[in-house]
Amino acid sequence: MSDLNIPDAPAIEGARHLHSGKVRDLYEIEQGAYAGQLLMVASDRISAFDHVLDTTIPDKGEILTRMSLWWFDQLTHLVPHHVLSTEVPASVRGRAVVCERLKMFPVECVARGYLAGSGLVDYAATGAVCGIALPPGRAAASRLPAPIVTPAPKAAVGDHDENVSYEAVAGQIGEADAGELRDLTMEVYAAAERIARERGIILADTKLEFGRRSDGVTVLADEVLTPDSSRFWPADDWRPGRPQPSYDKQIVRNWLLSPESGWDKAGGDAPPPLPDAVVERTRARYVEAYELLTGETW
Ligand code: ATP
Ligand code: MG
Repeated sequence: MSDLNIPDAPAIEGARHLHSGKVRDLYEIEQGAYAGQLLMVASDRISAFDHVLDTTIPDKGEILTRMSLWWFDQLTHLVPHHVLSTEVPASVRGRAVVCERLKMFPVECVARGYLAGSGLVDYAATGAVCGIALPPGRAAASRLPAPIVTPAPKAAVGDHDENVSYEAVAGQIGEADAGELRDLTMEVYAAAERIARERGIILADTKLEFGRRSDGVTVLADEVLTPDSSRFWPADDWRPGRPQPSYDKQIVRNWLLSPESGWDKAGGDAPPPLPDAVVERTRARYVEAYELLTGETW
């Protein structure tokens, strides 16, 4: 899809631009100790309803980068991660990492502990999530009897990721790799869910990506356990049966859908710029999630 409104990635000396997603820009490092490795830059862009908004959220790229690094650190006993260095060119300092170039598995590994998002839609329609049957009568946002892994093949930019069964993934990448990814995803989710809960945050679900290193080791990649890749809910406000306030783009989505924005989601036009108050509240939400999780002051 070409109408995602992704701006041209800024030039970075010593790095060659490879790809831009809705939020991140990916470069290859050209010289020095890390030549050939990747520079992953998190911008302040925010997307909603499959549009990259014209308005950015100050510090979002840095908040998410630091959050992801914090999580990688919490998880090293379970799985190695792809970050090699945080020494990056000055223009992207704080919101970029040098990471090991991996052969990515073509699958997004989604772990869910609660009924939400596309899992809830699936359950409402079929009584199961990605073919995993669940007890009937579960309310939206309720906790699942046990966490489940629902993989999704990686879609082309702008396409929707679609949930599939574990068997479909095993057919695509092989039983051994599919099993390893499922087990790692489950372990990471279980550890992260516990850590978040101790800090007053429910980790309802999360999306992980793994890649393989040339020595054959499976490595945790991309960004991890940020509000862009996960559903975080404040534990105090958790009430199954209704939509949960969350630490993500909820404020932006609500405003875009409100009469105040004047935007028609179905109309095909780009969303309008966000008012300063919406930007500030959204930024505060990201900061709050960061501070609660890490215990550090932003
Ligand atoms: P979108 O919202 O469209 O997913 P994004 O802003 O998250 O966009 P991506 O297009 O996902 O950006 O860009 C990041 C890309 O980098 C992904 O395709 C991811 O699989 C890939 N990637 C992450 N870590 C590594 C790694 N260590 N080696 C190789 N590729 C990686
Ligand atoms: Mg992505």
